[in-house]
Amino acid sequence: MSVRYPLPAARHPIAARFLDDAAAVGEAIERFGSPLHVVFPQVTAENATALAGVLRRHGVPYDIFYAHKVNASAALLAEASIAGLGADVASAAELDRALAAGFAADRIEATGPKSPAFIDRIAALGVTANADDLWELDRLAAAALAGRAVPVLLRLSGFASPAVPQSRFGIDLADADAALETVRRAPGLDLRGVAFHLDTADPAARVDALTESMAVVAAAHRKGLRPSVIDIGGGFRQRFVEDPEPFQRYSQAVATGPGELVWPGHDLGLRRAGAVAGAPAAHKYGNHRPATDVLERFLAAEVERRPVAEVLRECMLTLWIEPGKALVDHAGITLASVLYRKRAAGRDLVVLDLSRNQVTPADQEVLLDPVLVGGHGEPPAEGVFLAGRLCLESDLVSRRKVFLDSEPSSGDVLAFINTAAYQMDLSASSAGGHPPPPKVAAVLEGGRFTFVADDHHGS
Ligand SMILES: *Cc1c(COP(=O)(O)O)cnc(C)c1O
Repeated sequence: MSVRYPLPAARHPIAARFLDDAAAVGEAIERFGSPLHVVFPQVTAENATALAGVLRRHGVPYDIFYAHKVNASAALLAEASIAGLGADVASAAELDRALAAGFAADRIEATGPKSPAFIDRIAALGVTANADDLWELDRLAAAALAGRAVPVLLRLSGFASPAVPQSRFGIDLADADAALETVRRAPGLDLRGVAFHLDTADPAARVDALTESMAVVAAAHRKGLRPSVIDIGGGFRQRFVEDPEPFQRYSQAVATGPGELVWPGHDLGLRRAGAVAGAPAAHKYGNHRPATDVLERFLAAEVERRPVAEVLRECMLTLWIEPGKALVDHAGITLASVLYRKRAAGRDLVVLDLSRNQVTPADQEVLLDPVLVGGHGEPPAEGVFLAGRLCLESDLVSRRKVFLDSEPSSGDVLAFINTAAYQMDLSASSAGGHPPPPKVAAVLEGGRFTFVADDHHGS
């Protein structure tokens, strides 16, 4: 018998309750089929309340924009609208969905690279444009001539601090003055503020980017412009596990000799020339701290010996945040049925009616154990690998040996926990004629779950 390295996923009470309710899971699969993405809008509402609570406690004027790209679900988007959030959209299709979900145009901001047609729509509607480049500012200024002023944010990058990761997005700080001049000369542009979005949860990086962005705000004021917003983007973390220890133990085991733990030819990116690649705790699946901690630490961090929150208040700046994954943390799970079990390559394989790309982004790996719905009995001594349904060697749903709580067999349902952030949609394809799984919103009311089909699955 080999050593077991289970990686249990943290479960939100609503997800736990759903998975413990075999009748509810059965009803969902019966009505909507397998595989199935289940989203929990109530969890998104709870996440929004928690983040807003931190901002309120620090007395910072704020606004929260839900980064829609994290999940195509109409139900989660509508929940963000009901919760009073704004929407961050990155395409014309996302803009259409935000309007359909009930967001007024002035509650929407558009980020990312924009086409001329998208820019014209933004300008016509009065959506806030988070400008990625000087080219966009020029196009926005031209579009604005035809009608009302377009609210703009300058997305900044090229920060001097080595703590801030390099980015392909935004206007380089070296061009910030030219961008401010463009805005100053364009009667149709209304500079609301400056923005950045960092692909890291490191509070020090965010504080450095804030400090350098505040210098641009000051430069804008010197030119007679009146920006009042500083948008620090998203990047707040998800809490995947209760306890980081099993993940660290597992990472060490893989790093020192993956052997039986991974499918031949893979090391899950945890191993580089015999050493652990980066601190294991830095891997997203090892994280046990909630997004509210990241925000809390940012607001309490010091800029010139004063807390960020105090500096923002004093400068009368409104803080915007654009969380994606933090708002859908624990707001979804993915169900897939077991087709059959087999031995292959000297290993135990569980074949699922799911494709790898429908439960993880292409460049990532699901590193948590799924849950066997209705499972009972002793945990099996041996782990298993999970295979997908495509005729591709690469279609292994898990290249990591997973350790289930009980033995799966044909017809059983496996649940992948906490998949609403990027996992459902980012890389999902219809390869092999298998469309992305449908989505259903599950709402807990009076002790039981009700289901509503979600229109915008997987597109
Ligand atoms: C993707 C994205 C977000 C959301 O990022 P998370 O890490 O999911 O919070 C926010 N803002 C911009 C500009 C983005 O591109």
